[in-house]
Amino acid sequence: MEKDTNFNEWYNDIVEKAGLSDKRYPIKGMNVWTPYGWKIMRNIDEYIRRELDATGHDEVCFPLLIPETEFKKEKEHIKGFDSEVYWVTHAGLNELDVRLVVRPTSETAMYPMFSLWIRSHTDLPLKIYHLVNTFRYETKQTRSFIRVREIHFFESHTCHVTEEDAQKQVEEDFLILERLMKDLCIPYSLLTRTEWDKFPGAYYTVGLDTAMPNGRMLQIGSIHHYRTNFSIPYNITYEDADGEHMYVHQTTYGMSERLVGALIGVHGDDKGLVLPPPVAPIQAVIIPILSKGNIDAVTAAAKNVEKMLRDAGIRVKLDDRDERPGSKFFEWEIKGVPLRLEIGMKDIEKNVVTFVRRDNGGKGTVSLQDATDGVHLILRSIRKDMYDKAWEKQRSNVTTITSLDDLPEKTLRFGWCGSEECGHKFEDENDLKLLGTPYIPEEFDGKCIICGKPTDKVAYASRSM
Ligand code: ZN
Repeated sequence: MEKDTNFNEWYNDIVEKAGLSDKRYPIKGMNVWTPYGWKIMRNIDEYIRRELDATGHDEVCFPLLIPETEFKKEKEHIKGFDSEVYWVTHAGLNELDVRLVVRPTSETAMYPMFSLWIRSHTDLPLKIYHLVNTFRYETKQTRSFIRVREIHFFESHTCHVTEEDAQKQVEEDFLILERLMKDLCIPYSLLTRTEWDKFPGAYYTVGLDTAMPNGRMLQIGSIHHYRTNFSIPYNITYEDADGEHMYVHQTTYGMSERLVGALIGVHGDDKGLVLPPPVAPIQAVIIPILSKGNIDAVTAAAKNVEKMLRDAGIRVKLDDRDERPGSKFFEWEIKGVPLRLEIGMKDIEKNVVTFVRRDNGGKGTVSLQDATDGVHLILRSIRKDMYDKAWEKQRSNVTTITSLDDLPEKTLRFGWCGSEECGHKFEDENDLKLLGTPYIPEEFDGKCIICGKPTDKVAYASRSM
């Protein structure tokens, strides 16, 4: 399994061997979450819930089906999704009068309800989210977690009194994102999408992208400011302090199971998956090193360490199967368990536990009595090191170019005058995707790579995943 020379094959191999998902389900692009993969997703979901609850969002759960009449209210939105939605046309033997859309995203499910819920400025801000599956008829080649037709998805939706309040929400979303990505050890860039690539119906869209080992950028989420683009067609209004009816300003923030794809791509190596401790289903695996005459003593010590760690809230597994340690090492390496603990007679005599880090192969010992503190410390250090290493890679993947000859397989940074004409020309002639311009402006002094006009605007592009 070679990650750097054949990323696509490596990726599919890891998904299968680590037991993350089963794509043999008889609908293409709708995969089965197998236990290990689902545990990772659930851990990510828990972090999302924790962050959103802590910032005043409430979790809800909306229906899966949306009436066509509601779905078609916002014209840009329907144009953007028309070709990728699934329709329910029958109920039993009867053809439905109003067809139903299987949600591709939840704006058009939520907003008719928002118009009933919001009456006064005192009802605002409204901040809700749900974690559900969405459905999109993907026509490109499907790939586990990265391009699927049934997508595990989180989306938050907020309504505000003014455009400025909505803007503050977008900024809070960036802080939520920053904390979340620290736990997932995933680096990202914030790029304002081009006008032709923004979310259908949005005022603006900020894409969250992370670099994959093949140099391509993977979009792992997006944050949108809608202004009143949806509240007007859905009639979501509030009465202000003077009794006047005003339209709310809205935002959304969404991320999906692509985060699992990003974990695989960003951290994995030739031996398999490498999971950051915060989301690893098993944070430490204990392997007893048995030999004749010491089986009871070693097993007892291993069980004791397991109990200590479990009582301290560490997700630990004692692998006491009757197999050679070497084949156990191999298996847990593929599954990306951050820390391996080995206990043999020699360790017991020295009153220690031997540890091996999955992320960098680092080895050492911690004292048996203080195993809990030692393991906590190492897990924290793994998280930090994985985070720093991933950011370093993300930064080194960006190359500033001044010519379109011999384009490297990297994320490209270049001058762009900002015109749609140059943007389209750039994409069409180079088979690249213009990812957008930095949300946090970067100083730049150069020329548009297409028309040659002087510009202080910089843009990013890469081949699409
Ligand atoms: Zn230009």
